[in-house]
Amino acid sequence: MQKYGGSSVADAASVKRVAQRIVDTKKQGNEVVVVVSAMGDTTDELIELAEQVSPNPAARELDMLLTAGERISMAVLAMAIHDLGLEARSYTGSQAGLITDSTHGKARIIDVAPERIQKALSEGAIPIVAGFQGVSKSTKDITTLGRGGSDTTAVALAAALKADFCEIYTDVDGIFTADPRIVKKAHPLKTITYEEVLELSANGAKVLHSRCVEYARRFKVKVHVRSSFSNNEGTWLITEDERKSGMEQAIISGVAQDLADAKVTIVGVPDKPGTAATIFENIANAGVNIDMIVQNVSVGSSGKTDVTFTCPKADGDKALKCLESIKDKINFDSLDYDDQIAKISLVGAGMKSHPGVSATLFRAMAQIGANIEMISTSEIRLSVVTRASIAAKAVEAIHTAFEMDSDNEAIVYAGTGR
Ligand code: ADP
Ligand code: ASP
Ligand code: MG
Repeated sequence: MQKYGGSSVADAASVKRVAQRIVDTKKQGNEVVVVVSAMGDTTDELIELAEQVSPNPAARELDMLLTAGERISMAVLAMAIHDLGLEARSYTGSQAGLITDSTHGKARIIDVAPERIQKALSEGAIPIVAGFQGVSKSTKDITTLGRGGSDTTAVALAAALKADFCEIYTDVDGIFTADPRIVKKAHPLKTITYEEVLELSANGAKVLHSRCVEYARRFKVKVHVRSSFSNNEGTWLITEDERKSGMEQAIISGVAQDLADAKVTIVGVPDKPGTAATIFENIANAGVNIDMIVQNVSVGSSGKTDVTFTCPKADGDKALKCLESIKDKINFDSLDYDDQIAKISLVGAGMKSHPGVSATLFRAMAQIGANIEMISTSEIRLSVVTRASIAAKAVEAIHTAFEMDSDNEAIVYAGTGR
């Protein structure tokens, strides 16, 4: 299984280059199935087009529009393979048997029935599948899996077809200790555990779609992230057991930044049982996804405290409207909204057994004058919220503090990083 991201097929010349790579793989005696993303920034351009036509495009139609991007790349890639003398057949997600639920814009794969792909393989053809899309089992409408979802298409198909492994081709030489566009001294990792990469991708590192990692872990798909612009070995996803038996035992695997969240503070909340439950029940019912939450006990005899949480900026309006509607019920003083925040996350399986990780991180932040506004942790992750304007600087400082800097400058082969 091979998946080529948008940056690998950005123009006609790149499509031909990728076609050659696929043909070479096939000629070495491998069976190969390909998943492809939309060319370059096509998906962003289609979204911009939709917004010009309609301020709030219907979800069903937006999905239909966006899947067109992948239809273009699958067809031209098949043509390029034909010109190199092999047979390729393109398939939409629906034709390839990617069955999803009916949630437009972030559908979940519920079944994979790749009969047509198996048939094409048995007839010696190379199937080229449009990534990021499927068809709803209940409504029969075309769905998309969320931005970056072609990775998930590839892993789901790899699992269903029992592929030996799934190669994710992108514009950098694997998974790095930090986004190489931000930290020039980041270095590629030979291996990373599923758990670690899940924490990185769920916290803003867009190198892999987080659903893809969940899926790969659950169905034990071997994933190799690498560049389509070089022949360098990339990064293999491994289990914790494989990590323990291996050589590489770094405490920290990487650092990620996420600028997609906003911070909401409810000022002057009465400090009594049931208040938090009421607030967060209402927020949940409004469909807002909460990430971090911070609350203190009331100071002195005021009997009031502040409750702060983060949520995606895209849900900010919903959260504020919802809270306004229960203002009298809760009896809080006011609301504060701040979308100029960044969440920076340090990830590493070795954190569990090494004290002092948080102290080093806080010291690195202090040295560049970055204030820490919120903190949250998991077993293998430490996240802090700070100002968005200093995020890149903070990521670099943390990268240096944990001795991850490389002597060589990281290469970004292509792409706009959109
Ligand atoms: P594709 O078009 O192949 O899907 P993406 O743009 O979705 O590529 O993902 C690749 C990009 O992910 C890289 O160019 C890089 O800027 C970004 N990235 C963020 N964090 C990391 C990381 N830790 N390691 C590698 N790349 C990262
Ligand atoms: N083309 C889609 C996107 O840009 C899916 C993908 O690239 O994985 O999000
Ligand atoms: Mg991607």
